[in-house]
Amino acid sequence: MDPSLRWDDKDAGMTKCVKDVEKAVKVNYRDSNMKTIYMDNNATTKVADEVREASLPFFSELYGNPSSMHTFGGQVGHSIRIAREQIASLLGCGSDEIIFTSCGTESDNTAIKSALATSGNKRKIVTSRVEHPGILSTCREFEHHGYNIVEIPVDKKGRIDVNELEEAIDDDTAVVSIMYANNETGVVFPIERIAEMVKSKGVLFHTDAVQAVGKIPLDMSKSNIDMLSLSGHKFHAPKGVGVLYVRKGTRLAPFMLGGHQESGKRAGTENVPGIVAMGKACELAKDIIGEENTCVKEMRDALETAILKDCVDSFVNGDTENRLPNTTNISFEYIEGEAILLMMNKYGICASSGSACTSGSLEPSHVLRAMGVPFTAAHGSIRFSLSRYNTMAEVEFVADKMPEIVNQLRQLSPFVKG
Ligand code: PLP
Repeated sequence: MDPSLRWDDKDAGMTKCVKDVEKAVKVNYRDSNMKTIYMDNNATTKVADEVREASLPFFSELYGNPSSMHTFGGQVGHSIRIAREQIASLLGCGSDEIIFTSCGTESDNTAIKSALATSGNKRKIVTSRVEHPGILSTCREFEHHGYNIVEIPVDKKGRIDVNELEEAIDDDTAVVSIMYANNETGVVFPIERIAEMVKSKGVLFHTDAVQAVGKIPLDMSKSNIDMLSLSGHKFHAPKGVGVLYVRKGTRLAPFMLGGHQESGKRAGTENVPGIVAMGKACELAKDIIGEENTCVKEMRDALETAILKDCVDSFVNGDTENRLPNTTNISFEYIEGEAILLMMNKYGICASSGSACTSGSLEPSHVLRAMGVPFTAAHGSIRFSLSRYNTMAEVEFVADKMPEIVNQLRQLSPFVKG
């Protein structure tokens, strides 16, 4: 590595490397003949065929408004009731505890805003440094209005210290919001333990379970969680539909005001095709969640083992003991994630990197920074997130290509001695 180059020097450093790679691989993003190997399921998922089929009639013959008095609308209302039951069944809760929203972000926003609105004069939110922006941005907005936000740090493996969390909760705390599983590393937090501890202090507890639902079993009937967010497009339903679970007895201040939909808890005419689709996706998830933990995990483990074996200077980010079965976040030292993604794209392989282009330079993700992953490694991190639609043949193909890609990039990298 050339010590005169700095990772954050965008002229001399890695960003230039991405541009070189862009030129070298001459990626045609619209090459429709190329087979796609999709390993970016924490970003979004394929809509399952059964889910698409279930929703199609609601784009054509069943277009009534579920709030209408006539039978034509009433049958649509009935389909929403069925979807509500399917979702409640996956979560182990009552169907009257399900509120439909437009996405995970809306559910997160609603939970925090409602908790503050219903907690009297309490002015403190306790959360973690590694939450999704749906939570962090909402909290920071309240910070501008004088609220006290405590972001609990994580350790090198992305884990939360529950004792530290407990110490941060006091009489002024309106809500604690900790995600069920992290979207970038897949690390699963001890949410039931946390929920019990928070309840013992008489404080509301919300969890962003957007990455957990459909991947690991959840059971609200045995839980102390007060509010939980989920999003359809993360588990094979379409984009634009989500849920906020609100435990019976928990007060809710609506975020959207208007009509009487969702018993007055969330106004706006329902996204019927999306809701019906999400209901079906929950029914499927309930039946095959075991598969996520066997077949998908097997493929993820095989991919991870092969990459770590064949790519020197690579390692996994995050706690591998408590992790979603589909996710692995791997750092490749001395090269940039963006450059790796471009080369992978050449082979039709889709994944995500742990850095984002902000104001012309590459910034490592807030999650990897919170974990203290060194700059060199955070820049070169790739998140592979699999689903039941992947195959072992795809895993073998990707495992075969990664060493080639990494070696090629390291030859271009100004940070590795030639
Ligand atoms: N929370 C987590 C953990 C996520 O991963 C995401 C999406 O990536 C969201 C919230 C936001 O969900 P949506 O895209 O439905 O707004």
